[in-house]
Amino acid sequence: MESNTAWIERELAQLKEQGLLIHFRTVESPEGPWLTVDGRKVLNLCANNYLGLAADPRLAQAAKDAIDQYGIGPAAVRTIAGTMSLHLALERRLAAFKGVEAAITFQSGFNANIAAIPALVGKDDVIFSDELNHASIIDGARLSRAEIVRFAHADPADLRRKIEETHTTGRRLIITDGVFSMDGDIAPLPEIYEVAREHNILLMVDDAHGEGVLGRGGRGIVDHFSLHGKVDIEVGTLSKAFGVVGGVVAGKPIIIDWLRQRARPFLFSSAMTVPDVAACLAAVDVLEASTERVDRLWRNAEFFRREMQRLGFDTGASQTPIVPIMLGEAPLAQQFSRRLFEEGVFAMAIGFPTVPRGKARIRVMNSAAHSQSDLEQALAVFEKVGKELAVV
Ligand SMILES: *Cc1c(COP(=O)(O)O)cnc(C)c1O
Repeated sequence: MESNTAWIERELAQLKEQGLLIHFRTVESPEGPWLTVDGRKVLNLCANNYLGLAADPRLAQAAKDAIDQYGIGPAAVRTIAGTMSLHLALERRLAAFKGVEAAITFQSGFNANIAAIPALVGKDDVIFSDELNHASIIDGARLSRAEIVRFAHADPADLRRKIEETHTTGRRLIITDGVFSMDGDIAPLPEIYEVAREHNILLMVDDAHGEGVLGRGGRGIVDHFSLHGKVDIEVGTLSKAFGVVGGVVAGKPIIIDWLRQRARPFLFSSAMTVPDVAACLAAVDVLEASTERVDRLWRNAEFFRREMQRLGFDTGASQTPIVPIMLGEAPLAQQFSRRLFEEGVFAMAIGFPTVPRGKARIRVMNSAAHSQSDLEQALAVFEKVGKELAVV
């Protein structure tokens, strides 16, 4: 008889054959602009460390001080004994930073989505979801058991059409990523808001890649488009630009109060740890003190994208510090990434199922932590490998 895991061996072999087997490397240094990876010093172009806060000494010190004062673990879910004064302080500070009345934190951005969506819609309801939304939105939507209607990517006219075609007596929710994580384009939120308003539908934006990046000093997509008070639910992460780990939902007090009653990862999974919360509070201090890091991030991203285009690379729809280098087939993207690494540049290949088949790419993540000479070095390596593999 065949072993009961033989199917896994077959699946893995097939992934390998198609160039779709995910390989990941081990980082042996702090998460800075340069990393030691698998024993080599390489330039880091694939982390979400937009502002260079992941190894910032102020965040690390805040975590240490909090450990001395409060220990480490919350020892419970938020609704039992896990809500510490630190959690409430972080929620107040995040709400103030984003210019909303209330916020609730979760253990991650992924959890924030699977918390918020099923709390807001259920079996008899409808979710209108951008077709390129993040996996955690898709999973949150599935968990809710609501009907999921996908609209064409970043297309408010298609959204309007889908809403008019979908008859329901239940509740409705529109969800879009703010910045799309694989393409680096920005959702047309003002137009989506108009559609939501016309039809009186709840509007939720997942700003994981906009938090700390878009808007004045990194206040996010709502600030970027001056839509204050108009977006009902803003989901964010503390794991990207904030440099730590955690998730947040910000919005009207009535919605946040409801999530405190009904969001399952809030009720059934332990709270964020003490050092994480303290480090996030320090990150808010850094962001509120100055826009300098956010400004540097954008200068770096715009320089890098412009120079890559000048070299002849296809940067897709990128409008943000996420710059995909479109290569097409997955094996080419994997080979490109391997050659970059050999030349001292760490940038990951991304293929199906993270992006559609035939749309494999190298995804470059810019950061305020990169110096001008880091970027010039990266460009020289991309040019060399691009020519070698006949991409440019
Ligand atoms: C990264 C990401 C998440 C998940 O955030 P984590 O804090 O890493 O769990 C959720 N939504 C979007 C759009 C993301 O890009």
